[in-house]
Amino acid sequence: MTIDFSQAEYVCAAHQRNQWPPDSGGEVAFAGRSNVGKSSALNAITRRRRLAHTGKTPGRTRQIVFFDLPPHDCRLVDLPGYGYAKAAHELRRHWQQFIADYLAARRCLKGMIVPMDIRRPLTDLDQTMLQCCWQHELPLHILLTKADKLKAGRARAILRQVRAQLATQPHTDAQLFSAIDKQGVDQAREVITAWLLPHES
Ligand code: GDP
Repeated sequence: MTIDFSQAEYVCAAHQRNQWPPDSGGEVAFAGRSNVGKSSALNAITRRRRLAHTGKTPGRTRQIVFFDLPPHDCRLVDLPGYGYAKAAHELRRHWQQFIADYLAARRCLKGMIVPMDIRRPLTDLDQTMLQCCWQHELPLHILLTKADKLKAGRARAILRQVRAQLATQPHTDAQLFSAIDKQGVDQAREVITAWLLPHES
């Protein structure tokens, strides 16, 4: 059995921990800097046009959105975007704590997808996010988004550079991705499926 991502269904937008769905089965979370294309990636992967809201006002720093993947006891999770330019230092710190709490608490979390704009990968805040995953020994997969904005050769060169920078870290990889031309969508689905259904892929 595989995962039919087009069956993804909105479950809830949780502001507090007691609103999270039960900690069972498997979960893959998406976390990225605001505006890198996280919602567009989620929508491309699920083939939904508006599963995750694109282009929304930044600043919903404490909302975690859960989507079911029936019939499996599996979920996709949209974590709040980080590093919006106007977000004050305090807000960022708050975000970090919020995400750290989620990572530490959630036993069903199987891996983290981190979209980064291919033109600005591995910013300081991205590094903080990656450190957080590594500390929790959480498998990590980077989507270099908006790859359609670059020529193919340039995009591949950046992918090589990013992979080289991550080479010493276990369970960490990167790929090219575009929600516009759908480049890398199947590859991302395969990564998520392998995390959620490890015995079936
Ligand atoms: P989020 O804040 O990370 O959820 O980002 P969004 O998905 O809302 O996208 C931010 C902006 O980038 C929007 O204007 C999208 O249309 C654009 N965008 C997202 N993905 C892509 C992509 O793959 N290629 C291009 N060219 N633009 C994209």
